[in-house]
Amino acid sequence: MDFNNANDSVMRRMQALANRITHIKSQDFYFYNQAVEEILPGNKVRVNGRVMGMYASYSYLGLVGHPRINEAAKKAVDKFGTGTNGVRTLAGTLTIHNELEETIANFKHAEAAITYTSGYATNLTVISTLMGRGDYVFSDKINHASIVDGCLMSGAEFRRFRHNDMAHLEGLLKNAPADVSKLVVADSVFSMDGDIIDFPKIVELCKKYNAWLMIDEAHSVGVLGKTGTGIEEHFNMYDSIDIKMGTLSKTIPSVGGYVAGKKELIEFLRHGSRAYIFSAALPPAQAAAANESFKVILDEPWRIENLNRNTKQFIGGLKGMGFDTLLTETAVVPVLCGEDDKAFALTRECQMNDVFVLPVVSPAVQEGMARLRATITAAHETEEIDRAMNVIGEAGKKLGMVK
Ligand SMILES: *Cc1c(COP(=O)(O)O)cnc(C)c1O
Repeated sequence: MDFNNANDSVMRRMQALANRITHIKSQDFYFYNQAVEEILPGNKVRVNGRVMGMYASYSYLGLVGHPRINEAAKKAVDKFGTGTNGVRTLAGTLTIHNELEETIANFKHAEAAITYTSGYATNLTVISTLMGRGDYVFSDKINHASIVDGCLMSGAEFRRFRHNDMAHLEGLLKNAPADVSKLVVADSVFSMDGDIIDFPKIVELCKKYNAWLMIDEAHSVGVLGKTGTGIEEHFNMYDSIDIKMGTLSKTIPSVGGYVAGKKELIEFLRHGSRAYIFSAALPPAQAAAANESFKVILDEPWRIENLNRNTKQFIGGLKGMGFDTLLTETAVVPVLCGEDDKAFALTRECQMNDVFVLPVVSPAVQEGMARLRATITAAHETEEIDRAMNVIGEAGKKLGMVK
């Protein structure tokens, strides 16, 4: 590379990562950033001219391309155009933003809601607005990167508890000074493992130690609860979360993030959080699409039944073949491989046989815990899931992972 500062630490980091990428590519193991040419029914896609079963998307209820949602987006474009050209606080707020926030508040059994232009930005800005120097945040070890970054940005004392280990969390809470503000934050469904937070216990601990509770529902909206409203419905424990965070980019086929909660909290964030005040509002089409999506979820509960049926089939089948799927009970299904190269090799075998899965390796997961991170949706068909499992099973045998 031809830069001026050939020996500084930035250059060394760039070189190290470039070497790792080159190594992966040289073994024909590189499957990231592939362009999807077309999205087909039954959660299939066309990639490099080939039709593949898609097992890496977050469209858990198969809502992407839904006619009602597309129509809502098109109408919003006709009415408002394609951009907002401003931040919400100034000229950027449209009626569709207020409608969306009301829809979210109702869906999440909350008094009010606020939206941001990404889930990542939501965690960053919300945690760093609420928490500051001298406060304490407690975060699960495998929480999403955006939560970690929000905690670091806040400047608060940052304590990480072992994954889903409530005894460890309690010990950390006990050790913190009694008179400081405390925030406990966790994914509801963990984005790499698919398991569910010990919700009854974490709620109890927050009450006992006077801590705020923030739960990130990126992978539980549309997935948990009989009507798909998330973790509070799943455990029948409404009004347990102070800061109900979620994204508009997974089950909801749009983009953006939100927080729902008490009026005073939302009012504070609306006037205090920098991603709201200093970054442009959601585009009209995306706001309208998100708004319609929440309604479709409630109107079409059969999608959740299909997802649950497919999830059972997929996890049960993989386990039956001898794969380690960790503790998942949801639509995020890890297939543990161990070393990075094993995960790359398994991916390659699957992709060659038209099963679109992707590997997750360190630092996204702990070293030695590399995996396929497969996802299952309501849109997959039973025979197609059988075919995909067959492909994964044969690949696993070939690589000596299962018998
Ligand atoms: C995807 C994800 C986010 C970020 O959401 P985006 O809308 O994609 O920015 C935040 N938290 C978790 C747990 C996620 O999985």
